[in-house]
Amino acid sequence: MAYHVSADEFERIAAEALESIPPALRAQMDADNLLITIQQDATEDDRGGGIDQRVLGYFQGSSESTFSATGYPKRIVLLQHHIERWSRTREELVDQVHDTVLHEVAHYFGMNHNDIEQTRLHH
Ligand SMILES: [Zn+2]
Repeated sequence: MAYHVSADEFERIAAEALESIPPALRAQMDADNLLITIQQDATEDDRGGGIDQRVLGYFQGSSESTFSATGYPKRIVLLQHHIERWSRTREELVDQVHDTVLHEVAHYFGMNHNDIEQTRLHH
């Protein structure tokens, strides 16, 4: 049973999650022009790259992009419909967004899944 919110509401929740990141780390993310983007669903490229319904978001680093050698900017993508699909209440949705943002930010800072304690549904 999925819990749905509007795109605006989802954006607000994501912004709140970002605000929970320590300022020193956020300053580095800003300086690096790290993009946080919200996609409603996985694109065909995403699915080709192994992004399935269990993936709530992902980090795409410029050096390790599997999509293009010419280089996308580093970005964190949150997949709104995927996150909604695994949330039954607003509270769960907020938790999932926070967990996903923190998880992908950890990847941005070079942590792998052995370093990140909870891997759950994330990518
Ligand atoms: Zn991950």
